[in-house]
Formats: sequence, structure tokens, C-alpha cells
Amino acid sequence: MRKKIVAGNWKMNTTLQEGIALASDLKNALAGKKVNCDVVVCTPFISVAAVAEAVKGSIIGVGAEDCSAQDKGAFTGEVSASMIASTGAKYVILGHSERRQYHGENNALLIQKLQQALANGLTPIFCVGEIKEERESNTFKSVIEGQMAALYTLSAEDFGKCVIAYEPVWAIGTGLTATSAQAEEVHAFIRASIAEKYNKTVADNTSILYGGSCKGSNAPELFAQPDIDGGLIGGAALKADTFMPIIEAWK
Ligand code: PEP
Repeated sequence: MRKKIVAGNWKMNTTLQEGIALASDLKNALAGKKVNCDVVVCTPFISVAAVAEAVKGSIIGVGAEDCSAQDKGAFTGEVSASMIASTGAKYVILGHSERRQYHGENNALLIQKLQQALANGLTPIFCVGEIKEERESNTFKSVIEGQMAALYTLSAEDFGKCVIAYEPVWAIGTGLTATSAQAEEVHAFIRASIAEKYNKTVADNTSILYGGSCKGSNAPELFAQPDIDGGLIGGAALKADTFMPIIEAWK
């Protein structure tokens, strides 16, 4: 069956020292606790290796927030999936709305990034989601289907290695959360689309996370929905005190 996952996305918010301190705080907060989901932190490139080291011996999995579409070579400033994997990290966020918006990431590029991630044993956390106008014009399902098309280039086996995050862009960092009914509607839509593209078993085994102003107060209701398998968390992942209640929402 599919995994329950709570993953943090630290974005560009932590220096190396702050990242190590945050990872250590989270490791300490989790020590001796029985948790009912996988816990992941995706960190800026500069801290992935140090955070992977800091959380050793804990249940915390580590990831990056992006990877290069290229394998290796003369690509100044880029960080390859193999470099990320070499730190011990196991995850990579791909297609986050901020990458799509500020870096023009499109399906063609994201297909290459997916292939790089999978070839290097990383689990992609692949983000999809509509902007406010697309929700208001009721075109959000076709937008999401269009974004899913990048994943649908994968074999069923490779698709099965991916995690999906539904993040309505209008809810990211805005304090506006999709209602649990709005989120569930899209999660169920995505799962039905996967079943149509591959089959029901693949769909049932895919973890689909919700992201967008998720916090301790709304996580229990969101996670109670049948097709919501956890969260991708921005702001509330920046302190162990605010991240832990989301993890603990999985009773
Ligand atoms: C995100 O950007 O992945 C996110 C969900 O952010 P926030 O929780 O701050 O809305």
C-alpha cells in the first residue's frame, strides 16, 4: 500500500548552520517517538550533505529542492541528481510552482529531470497545481492533467517510484488552505487519472501529498481524506515545533 509522508520544503530560508540546527531539533523531537508516517526534509543544496549527516540514526529522509536536467559536465551552477544522491539524500522535489513560475520549468525540462532523478535512485516529489485564475475559471483539472503528462512519459515501474504533491499555487505561503473537500476532489481526480493511464494498482499505490499552508491545525482534517497521503510543507517546516504537529496528525 501507499506510504504516508510528511515532507518539508525549506526553500531558500536556511543558512548551513540554521539548516543543521533545524535538522537536529527535528531529530531530537522525533527521538523515542512512534510516528505513523515517513518524514522527509528537502533542503537547499548547500545543506543537503550536512543535514543528511545530522539526521543519521533517525527516521528522517533527506532531499533536495531541485536537480539539474543534465547528467554532468559544463553546466556552471547546476547540481546533478548523482551529486545529490552522493550525499545520502533520497528525495528530490521537482516541478515546484516556484520553479515553474520563476525559472520557466516546463514538461520537456521536467521529463529530463525526472529521468535524472530516477536514474540516480532518487524519489521525485513531483509538484502539480493550478494558479488562482485557473481555479476561478474552473480549468484546474485540465491544467493538472497537463502537468501530469510529464509523469505519464514514465513506465509504470518508474512512475511507481514517484510521489506526487498537489499544491494549489493560490494556497502556497498565502495562509489560504484549500478546504479538505477541495483538496480531496483534486487528489481523487489525480488518482483516477493515474488509474486510467496505468491501472488501479498503480493508482492505489501512489502517494499524493497536499501542499499549501498546511499546518498542525488543519493537517488532521486534510489527512483524514481518503486520497490525501500526507503533506508537502513550506512555512511550517521551518521549526520543529510547527512541523511536529503535522507529523503527529497521522495518528
Ligand atoms: C510549498 O511551497 O511547498 C508549500 C506548501 O508552502 P507553504 O506550506 O508555506 O504554503
